[in-house]
Amino acid sequence: MSEATNKTQSAAELAVTLVGTGSPMPDPNRAGPATLISAGEGTDAEHYLVDAGRGVLMRLAALGLGAPNLTAVLITHLHSDHITDLNDVITTRWVMTFEETPLTIVGPVGTQSVVDHLLASLEPDIGYRIAHHEDLDHCPPVTVLEVSEGAVELPDGQGGKVAISCAETDHKPVEPSVGFRFDFGGAAVVTAGDTVPCIGLDGLCSGADALVHTVIRKDIIANVPFQRMQDTLDYHSSPAEAAKTATKADLATLILTHYVPAMPMSGTEDDWRALAAEHFGGAIEVGDDLHRVVVPSRT
Ligand SMILES: [Zn+2]
Ligand SMILES: [Zn+2]
Repeated sequence: MSEATNKTQSAAELAVTLVGTGSPMPDPNRAGPATLISAGEGTDAEHYLVDAGRGVLMRLAALGLGAPNLTAVLITHLHSDHITDLNDVITTRWVMTFEETPLTIVGPVGTQSVVDHLLASLEPDIGYRIAHHEDLDHCPPVTVLEVSEGAVELPDGQGGKVAISCAETDHKPVEPSVGFRFDFGGAAVVTAGDTVPCIGLDGLCSGADALVHTVIRKDIIANVPFQRMQDTLDYHSSPAEAAKTATKADLATLILTHYVPAMPMSGTEDDWRALAAEHFGGAIEVGDDLHRVVVPSRT
């Protein structure tokens, strides 16, 4: 865990917390893909969860946050490892809040259908709880916004301090996929999700400060003698490719996550950082779950 996790958030601070740094492969120490973007201070802070992989609410609990604290959930694409615990976020927010707290889920086209099916799978549970708790009388209030490009406008009363925008990324044959940009207090951070270098991501990064990028070690995976692993090479970025994207946009900070193969808990961070550093001269952050990075304001 990063020492920085104990730091108090200041009023105009934009911060990234790597909630889960894992991948589809279960790892005892790494939760599934999830990144928290936090803006502002204390109870006024806005918290945006980007992807909702395995164990996300356990990790948020370690930060002193729960599903009710999320301003919105944003999904980069519909690969299972990025949405494993979306049902947990939906249900826990519903049963852990005592006044109506609608949840907005932003994602690429197809997200509405996935959420509809999740809610359908939760039908028995929803029925039990409505029958058992007098103050719960209807389904979890969930709004889905399907997006592809441009500004992301949340419903009235949700968010408002952070300007969010999105663009299509390239994770083919997973289509569509999107990256998000968060602007707050003179700082901007982009969350790429899974993608190869592409124009959409370059556009989001233009004029931003930091980039959170999922990566796989192609130098290692290329030597794994299973076709299914080799198949993953063509739709992810390596640390070098992520670094080149960061350099192209002249960013100050590159934050790597979604380590494939799973990075041991100590010892190899420097290898990942060095691969990126060959192509990027800024700060390179590599860390375990709950590693927190403040994105400095330019003003
Ligand atoms: Zn993916
Ligand atoms: Zn992934």
